[in-house]
Amino acid sequence: VRPIGRRFRGVSDVRDLLILGAGPAGLAAATVARALGLDALVLEGGARPGGQLLVTPTPIPDCPGLPASTGPALAEQLAAHLAQGGGAVRTGHHVERVDVREGVVTAGGEHHRARFLLLATGARPRRLGVPGERAELGRGPSPAARRYGDRYRDRAVLIVGGGDVALEEAVLFARAGARVILAHRGDGFRARRDFRSALEAEPRVDVRLRTKLCAIEGEPEVTRALLVGPEGPFHAEVGAVFVCAGLAPNSELVAGQVETDAQGFVVTGVAQRTSAGRLYAAGDVCSGSTWMAAAAIGQAATAVKEVERRIHLGDDP
Ligand SMILES: Cc1cc2nc3c(=O)[nH]c(=O)nc-3n(C[C@H](O)[C@H](O)[C@H](O)COP(=O)(O)OP(=O)(O)OC[C@H]3O[C@@H](n4cnc5c(N)ncnc54)[C@H](O)[C@@H]3O)c2cc1C
Repeated sequence: VRPIGRRFRGVSDVRDLLILGAGPAGLAAATVARALGLDALVLEGGARPGGQLLVTPTPIPDCPGLPASTGPALAEQLAAHLAQGGGAVRTGHHVERVDVREGVVTAGGEHHRARFLLLATGARPRRLGVPGERAELGRGPSPAARRYGDRYRDRAVLIVGGGDVALEEAVLFARAGARVILAHRGDGFRARRDFRSALEAEPRVDVRLRTKLCAIEGEPEVTRALLVGPEGPFHAEVGAVFVCAGLAPNSELVAGQVETDAQGFVVTGVAQRTSAGRLYAAGDVCSGSTWMAAAAIGQAATAVKEVERRIHLGDDP
């Protein structure tokens, strides 16, 4: 291990592995690292481990071996498995800076150093960047229907998007008694089959294809949205707009230090290696991610196994 650079005086231990983020990928990585006898530390910015699972109140039916009634229940199972092996997550440790070359991570002004880093910071709802869009209930990102469906009973809401989240939101809001407009810029929906069937069976959703959101209007409350469809621009009188436009990666920490795709997702190769020798990435932050907990868990396990192999061989970057 190279001596610690002048900028990072005060870093004491050099660990085997620093894991950034404690969603399914980070939790799985920490569990595997303990099982393999690595000295690993998990830094999580949030108050609880679980990542996006914490905002998924619906069942997770597609995580083999881990049947869970809800996302938070699956998060608990993953955290309990880590704890069983004696592992823990440092929550409330938002990572502010990463020096990939030096292997130094800064969180809360404290520096940590490791031979290898695993980026497992996941993703967040993508914004469209239209006027009036903000990170507030009723004018921004989903999911919301499970938690706030009642608030919009007998009111009109606009859902924007064509994937799983958009269709699920549209159906749930309709079932909660809202008048739903579902606008999607494409010709058809890419959501999974059960969500498409649920939408087809739901007569209270007004589906508008080839239709784009241009602006959200009204202050302080949303009053209408400006859209453009096949027949040109039009206004929809709605009390809320929920944008379900996919995900943006939480990869700013390594921007400019590692190869990313055009949207900023981190490019990974064999065994989740990135273009920087010391850095691995797993889960939703990776380019080509399938956005599944099972994939995040598998990628994390693969990356950690590879780290262990390299440490064993003395193949430090
Ligand atoms: C509504 C919804 C429904 C879903 N349904 C399913 C489903 O049915 N089946 C399925 O398999 N998947 C589902 N998913 C997707 C699944 O939750 C994700 O694929 C999975 O959580 C990705 O795991 P991850 O560990 O890569 O990232 P995340 O879960 O995004 O976790 C990343 C973690 O990193 C932390 N972090 C970020 N930046 C920092 C920083 N700077 N410092 C410290 N910590 C940081 C975050 O706080 C977070 O805890 C769903 C997601 C949503 C939102």
